[in-house]
Amino acid sequence: MNSSTSPDEKNNDLPMVFQCENCRTVVGDTICPVIANNSLRLITLDKVTNKVRIREKLISSSSSADLGSSYNPLICETCNSDLGRIYRTTTFQLDDLRNKYSLYIDRLSFYRLDSGEMTSEHLNNGNIQSYKQLEQEILKLQAVSVSFNSRIIQLEERLKEELNLS
Ligand SMILES: [Zn+2]
Repeated sequence: MNSSTSPDEKNNDLPMVFQCENCRTVVGDTICPVIANNSLRLITLDKVTNKVRIREKLISSSSSADLGSSYNPLICETCNSDLGRIYRTTTFQLDDLRNKYSLYIDRLSFYRLDSGEMTSEHLNNGNIQSYKQLEQEILKLQAVSVSFNSRIIQLEERLKEELNLS
């Protein structure tokens, strides 16, 4: 019982890729640190792909959750959808979000990658057809590995119990 990483930990380490929900352009991933803000429905990243464009106009927020903050809107370069915002001035509570890329959770689709070596740049360079196939493969592999993981965990638990008993 001395495996270096448990299946559980490994699963949590898999990076996620974020896409524009409208056109499926890859806009970011979780290889860099991520902050999720549920009340604002935002995922905040240190960096995004070059498919995210920053608009110049500065907007003062009028919603209660981030009242008093101002931001530049972020749009998808491919389809011009609103994707999020970069806060330039924030209240104390939202300090962590300042000058980072905050993307609207509801405007994104996302999935977990099966290999840390696959970056958004690779995906951007591929053509759409093979990319779609790749995505399907990843989803299939993910389902398989999840079911394997839970079986391994069960076996480990049982083994631990047996060792404790003897
Ligand atoms: Zn788009």
